Amino acid sequence: MVTHLPPAHDWPALEPGWVWLCGAGPGDPGLLTLHALNALRQADVVIYDALVEPAILDWAPQAERIHAGKRGGKPSPRQRDISLRLVELARAGKRVLRLKGGDPFVFGRGGEEAQTLISHGIPVRIVPGITAGIGGLAYAGIPVTHRDTNQSVTFVTGHDQTGETPGSLDWGAIARASGTIVIYMGMKHLARITAGLIEGGRDPGEPCAVVTDAATPRQRVLETRLGRMVDDVAESGLEPPAILCIGRVTLLRQVLDWQALAAGAAPRDLDPLGRRSASESA
Ligand code: SAH
Repeated sequence: MVTHLPPAHDWPALEPGWVWLCGAGPGDPGLLTLHALNALRQADVVIYDALVEPAILDWAPQAERIHAGKRGGKPSPRQRDISLRLVELARAGKRVLRLKGGDPFVFGRGGEEAQTLISHGIPVRIVPGITAGIGGLAYAGIPVTHRDTNQSVTFVTGHDQTGETPGSLDWGAIARASGTIVIYMGMKHLARITAGLIEGGRDPGEPCAVVTDAATPRQRVLETRLGRMVDDVAESGLEPPAILCIGRVTLLRQVLDWQALAAGAAPRDLDPLGRRSASESA
């Protein structure tokens, strides 16, 4: 049980008039950084996104809470309005915590908000967080890299500013780039994305996983194949927020699903890549 910040560190003060732009991680409050916790303890006001787990706000009982939810397809405050609200609150002398899901600089518009703040002369601190595309997959027992499968990872957004699949994305190049492809915001355009990757040369039989509400008590995981992903997702009834992972790393869940192991399940396959002898001799 954690009740205090660890001692022997000069924890920075969130001064009046400052905005700290912090990542909240993918869900589980334990995935907050200590700097984010330190900010929650001091903030006068917390402006948070839809993807921030509500339990995290309980760490800031003294703070006013402002919901600035942005979720694909639903009405939400305009980005410019959120940024200007932050400027106003800072100018009013508040200690402002802007809390965003995952990492604020990964597909989270944190860069845009920080640009607006800095251009208005507001002092900022950036506190990185654990991004859903890494930490959320880890909670599903999927490592984004493994020596036997891939030496690079590609992180992709399935939406652009208009909510459409980014027309500027070259799916063929993405298909060829990395053994592991991690896609954020991919559910709306799943059919176009998977077709683009297969056209770009990925094997329709390639293992994939879809993880929804990762690192929360609602987490669900679908293991599938690239060519069947659209149908399997439709059949499963899975809803966003979801991380899609394409690549052989997803097979490792058969041995690394640590949550299932903790609940008493046996590993499904101790050597899902069929590489035991190879890695032992390496
Ligand atoms: N800054 C965030 C990403 C914001 S974009 C980060 O670093 O994680 C929003 C997208 O992130 C969602 O559509 C989904 O694709 C993904 N996402 C965020 N939290 C998630 C979670 N707990 N489970 C699954 N996907 C999540």
